[in-house]
Amino acid sequence: MGIKTAKFGGSSVADGIQLMKIKKIIEDDPDRRYIVVSAPGKRFDGDNKITDLLMMCKAQADHNIPYDQLLQVVTDRYQSIRLGLDVDVDLTPHFEDIRQALSKGCTKDYIASRGEYLSAILIAAFLGYDFVDTQELILFDKRGRLLPEETNEALSKELSKHERAVLPGFYGGYQDSGEICTFSRGGSDVTGSLVARATGADIYENWTDVSGFLMADPRIVDHPRPIEYISYMELRELSYMGAGVLHEDAVFPVRMANIPINIRNTNRPQDPGTIITTERTYDNPKTLSGIAGKTPFTVINIYKSMLNNEIGFVRRALGVLEDLRIPFDHLPTGIDSFSIVIETKELEHHLEDVLQELDQRLHPDDITVTEDIALIAIVGMGLYRTVGVISQLTTALSDAGINIRMLNQGASDINVIVGVAAPDFEPAIRAIYRAFVEGE
Ligand code: ASP
Repeated sequence: MGIKTAKFGGSSVADGIQLMKIKKIIEDDPDRRYIVVSAPGKRFDGDNKITDLLMMCKAQADHNIPYDQLLQVVTDRYQSIRLGLDVDVDLTPHFEDIRQALSKGCTKDYIASRGEYLSAILIAAFLGYDFVDTQELILFDKRGRLLPEETNEALSKELSKHERAVLPGFYGGYQDSGEICTFSRGGSDVTGSLVARATGADIYENWTDVSGFLMADPRIVDHPRPIEYISYMELRELSYMGAGVLHEDAVFPVRMANIPINIRNTNRPQDPGTIITTERTYDNPKTLSGIAGKTPFTVINIYKSMLNNEIGFVRRALGVLEDLRIPFDHLPTGIDSFSIVIETKELEHHLEDVLQELDQRLHPDDITVTEDIALIAIVGMGLYRTVGVISQLTTALSDAGINIRMLNQGASDINVIVGVAAPDFEPAIRAIYRAFVEGE
């Protein structure tokens, strides 16, 4: 028998109808033995996520505002799922524990974690699987950083005792105190990945409400094609540029163990979804994996004649950013100039300080600032060995009447980054999609 770890996100466990779907999915493949679940998410636009409601209870408790009604909404939600599915499990003592903990001033992480905890107890009973709590298995250091090896050991040891289990996502515990510690929001993806690694799964299935990654943002491009296969590296580039389906930290544990991730849609289990692997195989090297972008960026251009003979000039410029704790995204260089590309939000209230410091420490000939730049990345494993990619890209943009403000290829084999004025962001993505995907 094989092993699959399946993680079901908030929308997949939002109500009884969704839980019937996941039961069918799990029963369809006996290899789906380790199940990680989120807290119930939104059922419709305007609905609330259980995690948000729990965190609101805590915020109200901290401000001495009554939270009983809010907690009742949470209780009712679970009870209606339980009754609708006729699951034989008594959640009342757990709600009582939560109520007590709130009144005694529990931690924010504890309360945030209860959504997943209750979800896993309920779903384990519904599926007839063991419930395995992650509080003592997913371990964090004092500063809330995951301890991956200790976690792997603890999880493997415990799960080897269970042929089938449901685990709550999103949290573990501090190694020293044992108290609950959560990942950042959306962190059940990370739990799924850790469980897949610890159980030596053949695949990590991440069930959500979309059929995998799309080649472009559907809010910008009409019906973009789904991505069937993508490598971890390509995914990282696309997610960095804003194509988000998976929590950033979810990739590392499975990548380490060479386990593919399959993004699947609970509402359309017949769709194959996207498979993420170490190496992508592709028939047509020209094929892009995807197009993604981010906006707005600010570009600081620094000019100094004979720059190439100066030692330490760029280091001093980056030192300014380091001292002011501002991250930068790109650093295109010319002969007597270079530019620092920074997300505009990072410079809020700091731009003047940065410019002043650069001026004082570098004594450049000139510094100019270009604001409102959008960056677009085209990502694909085959790009660097393909003749004509840049010409195809620039032709697509010039045909659409879009001026290229920056072009960056070279640092990475698998992407080309182009900068355009922010108002050209969406038209540029559409033009690139037309040229590379529809024009294939
Ligand atoms: N329930 C948590 C959140 O809403 C974690 C998760 O769903 O992955 O962020």
